[in-house]
Amino acid sequence: MRTAGERTSLLRKIPAVNTLLDRPEVQALTSRYSREFVTDLVREAVDELRSAVAAGEAREGDVDGFAEGLMRRLESAISHRFSRRKTLVLNASGVIVHTNLGRSIFSKEAAARMLAAAVGYGDLEYNIEKGGRGSRQEHIESLLARLFPGRRGLAVNNNAGAVMLALNTLAEGKEVLISRGELVEIGGSFRIPDVMSKSGAILHEVGTTNRTRLADFEKALSDRTGLLLKVHTSNYRIIGFTEETPVQSLASLARKAGVPLLVDQGSGCLIDLSSYGLKDEPTVGALLDAGGDVVTFSGDKLLGGPQAGILVGTGDLIARMKSNALYRALRPDKTTVAALEATLESFVAGDPINEIPTLRMLSRPADVIRKRSEAMAAGLDLLAAGRVESRIEEGVSRVGGGSAPMEDIPTFLLALRPREGGAEAYELSLRRGRPPVVSRVRDGWALLDLRTILEEQEEVLLGSLIAALP
Ligand SMILES: *Cc1c(COP(=O)(O)O)cnc(C)c1O
Repeated sequence: MRTAGERTSLLRKIPAVNTLLDRPEVQALTSRYSREFVTDLVREAVDELRSAVAAGEAREGDVDGFAEGLMRRLESAISHRFSRRKTLVLNASGVIVHTNLGRSIFSKEAAARMLAAAVGYGDLEYNIEKGGRGSRQEHIESLLARLFPGRRGLAVNNNAGAVMLALNTLAEGKEVLISRGELVEIGGSFRIPDVMSKSGAILHEVGTTNRTRLADFEKALSDRTGLLLKVHTSNYRIIGFTEETPVQSLASLARKAGVPLLVDQGSGCLIDLSSYGLKDEPTVGALLDAGGDVVTFSGDKLLGGPQAGILVGTGDLIARMKSNALYRALRPDKTTVAALEATLESFVAGDPINEIPTLRMLSRPADVIRKRSEAMAAGLDLLAAGRVESRIEEGVSRVGGGSAPMEDIPTFLLALRPREGGAEAYELSLRRGRPPVVSRVRDGWALLDLRTILEEQEEVLLGSLIAALP
């Protein structure tokens, strides 16, 4: 322990912030960053040293060498701060709609339009022909009308917002009948009972967790009933002795009772994906055909676009939602509108399976993934000979994002085992790399699924795989 006197004399030797700011190398920093920002960093460094001295933890050398070592400290503080910003991640997890990694990657066209909408003024709510006010959603509405003939559509910020808007518009102060088996929590904190109570609608559960029959709904109907709700249980499945009321039967009951049927479809699956292994994912169109008066879904799951919620249904109901004051609080911003338009255009007039990355990844045959994995293994052999062992094994990719929970998409995995250090350490070093690579470890091997790696990312991935080796 140092004496109080020694500490005081050490404290006196700490250079003043202003003196440090005058050093040429610190001055040079202010050409890239604001003076206030650099001053704050220098002050923080000085404060840290002062506390260390006061606590008797700093040596004389720490104080004497402080000014010399300052640049290294500042640079590391800067990189620490800025590396916290959201950064590109290579997703080798094989989970396609990975909620923690931002769900869907946009199509090239959607990304280009989003950028264009961001950097210039646009005709978001301006009618160029007439020179007056236009509608933000005109194009989205006309695309949705093409995709769902005879229906009208509306976009909001996310599907939670879409469900909230629908419940509030159609059933505020009234009872909403829903099966006990469908009181789900989806996509992190979207809980049907909570959304219901915030919307002002009254939850009325019917049936049991595993079995709900039409008779349960019939018994619960009363003059307080405002809406029937069906939720696609997209992130779990009740298996075994189960019974679910089909949309058709609910639709006829709703019609008899004179109340609408709302179906929360969730995934935004617009085209039949059963040939790619998604056997149980009903399309939005099929649910409308089965009698859903309004169907809600996300924009960034199987639709493969930006975060958004979409409502499609009969014209009068959608018109009521649009004139609800809540819609004003939920409407999508201009960049979302731009990306959503481009995404929907792919479904209306393009080639969604190939243009939309989510669907492209989902639809690639396992054999294609195997060939890409083999090429990656060959690259590793060539560039990191002897440092890592590799093999290709069978595995499964997942849709993720609270969609199609039980559906396994066959894939091939690139399995890697460094000669030194072990798979766990390798996974960690891949994850902490630049860019970070998300993989998993099983039985002593790091496993990478190239299904969720874009082809144009392969070279960067190879570099990361080598850089992370001990
Ligand atoms: C994902 C999902 C939601 C929540 O949608 P967000 O776009 O995340 O708000 C709601 N309902 C269902 C059935 C879902 O699958």
